Amino acid sequence: MKYRTLGNIKDRVSCLGFGSMRFLTDKDGNIIQEKVNELIKTAMESGITYYDTAYVYHDEHSEKALAEGLKPYPRESYTLADKLPVHLVKSEDELDGYLDRMLERLNTTYIDFFLLHAMSFERFEKVKLYHIGEWLDRKKAEGKIRYAGFSIHEKDTLIDELLSYYPFDFAQIMLNYMDVVHEPGMVGYEKLTKANVPVIIMEPLRGGSLANIPDFIAEPFKKFDAARSYASYSFRWLLNYPNIMTILSGMNEMDQLLDNIKTFNDETPVSKEELEAVNQVRDELMTKQKVPCTGCRYCMPCPFGVDIPGSFKAWNDRAKARYTEEQKAIQLPAESPVNCQACGRCESLCPQHIQIIDMLKKCNKEMTKE
Ligand code: SF4
Ligand code: SF4
Repeated sequence: MKYRTLGNIKDRVSCLGFGSMRFLTDKDGNIIQEKVNELIKTAMESGITYYDTAYVYHDEHSEKALAEGLKPYPRESYTLADKLPVHLVKSEDELDGYLDRMLERLNTTYIDFFLLHAMSFERFEKVKLYHIGEWLDRKKAEGKIRYAGFSIHEKDTLIDELLSYYPFDFAQIMLNYMDVVHEPGMVGYEKLTKANVPVIIMEPLRGGSLANIPDFIAEPFKKFDAARSYASYSFRWLLNYPNIMTILSGMNEMDQLLDNIKTFNDETPVSKEELEAVNQVRDELMTKQKVPCTGCRYCMPCPFGVDIPGSFKAWNDRAKARYTEEQKAIQLPAESPVNCQACGRCESLCPQHIQIIDMLKKCNKEMTKE
């Protein structure tokens, strides 16, 4: 397992981080705990030390499921990252209550990596109004938080404002070889690096899509080690950036976890030829992409029953399919975009800033034409 120790972070942190946003669930939507326990056992035995969750993941059930899986292991053998739902906090007085609930759910007395979740310009106004910077200092002094950071899907200029407001120890951004210009993107990475703030990466596989590239598009990867998965190229591309401390992956199946462990145990440095191959695959995927949806489901549920990520996935998958028969086999989900009433609820929730209403119209038109 690769480890890095960067910036203010004194820990030796595994470069592969265990994400808890996409655990497998049963038909009633409950997390399958046995599966989580099995995955965490393998992750711990393989040297993964960074376990990431958020107050709101899995309708507020992710933290507990993660804690349950980590129960057999000494607290000092892993680090926990959890995210404060700034959007839910209604007053300064509520901050302690949120932190105490997070600690209780995680069954711990401290959170190693405490993040302000999904910072936006609007949420930053709240952060200032509720004096969250001073509060973070107090919680650090009390030993309830070790390091303070933020996650962000916003313009890179917000990073400047956040770093001027508080000496954050780390930051989490979305980055993968497809989304170098996605806000804050590579510019955000460079800004954080210049400020000596270590970076945690989310969505390295763009919701899993970079692990499932059609073979004909992934052709440039075939000249390298055949045992390497398509997902590994995304991780290897990211590992090439030295200020990336940890790359989160929401591994909900054992084969994904084992494949990722193999990638992060691989000592061979990424070559110039591999990076060129990544560029070729990116260019090809870009020409086929309909909508940059990662399948995060932040926009769900739609009050009118539209399966937004399912519709976008079908649209993108059909665009990537090579043969007509394959294309025809990919259909919209039953909860189709035609049900959209343009209520607008979903658009402000999308971290990719997708104009969902317009895109659903286009998706429906293209997917239903004969
Ligand atoms: S705008 Fe359309 S898709 Fe979005 S929540 Fe409203 S009805 Fe659902
Ligand atoms: S439309 Fe946006 S919020 Fe919804 S799943 Fe896709 S990326 Fe996530």
